[in-house]
Amino acid sequence: MLEIHDIHTYYGSIHALKGVSLEVLEGEIVTLIGSNGAGKSTTVSSITGTAPASSGSIIFNGQDITKMKSCNITRLGIGVSPEGREVFGGLSVQDNLQIGAFTRKNKKEIAASYEEVYDLFPRLKERRKQSAGTLSGGEQQMLAIGRALMSKPKLLLLDEPSMGLAPNLVEMIFELIVKINKTGVTILLIEQNANMALQIADRGYVLETGRVTLSDSAKALQTNDDVRKAYLGSA
Ligand code: ATP
Repeated sequence: MLEIHDIHTYYGSIHALKGVSLEVLEGEIVTLIGSNGAGKSTTVSSITGTAPASSGSIIFNGQDITKMKSCNITRLGIGVSPEGREVFGGLSVQDNLQIGAFTRKNKKEIAASYEEVYDLFPRLKERRKQSAGTLSGGEQQMLAIGRALMSKPKLLLLDEPSMGLAPNLVEMIFELIVKINKTGVTILLIEQNANMALQIADRGYVLETGRVTLSDSAKALQTNDDVRKAYLGSA
């Protein structure tokens, strides 16, 4: 579904991605783990067109999206829940969700998507008129994911969905990610919480200073000594 071939991405003179290659097959949950500054968010931004790669290629369902505009990438079926959530605090929950559907026109289908999102996140339904800025951290994360789902993505990019959440909420968010995947949405999950991410993922990639240093099944990564030492807090 998604094939990234040897991409290099720069912020001015900063060489953030130094030849990243990875692939996500339809139906999978693939996780990208790595420490602060490894380039995880930049990988997401290169896929979504907000930090386009200067060389290499990104192919989505056979189409080259490397240099495509973000809104067209959304139209093709890539949704993103960004790092830090970025909900519109002054707007209601419902209005935030509506923004997520900006690429769509069919009102009936959009109405069905609201129902799907509210079924997944009943808490958002209860709070649909509440300003997003007054939601708890966990609720804002649900809203960011819900907003991404409103574009009806085939591939959902989740950038650090567990960040800043209490352990019980982290568990709930991960359960929801599995549930979303079971509805047929392919997932690329960016996480610092490698432990949780590898528990739900099919495969994983380890990113270090802009390079993929390891890729394997999630099971194999969980038992890999280097991964355990560096990312799972055990030897
Ligand atoms: P974190 O887990 O801390 O979010 P990350 O793995 O997502 O880290 P990135 O945010 O992709 O890492 O950052 C990769 C590198 O690019 C870092 O050296 C970072 O300082 C740099 N970088 C990221 N965004 C920008 C930007 N807008 N301008 C300049 N440099 C940036």
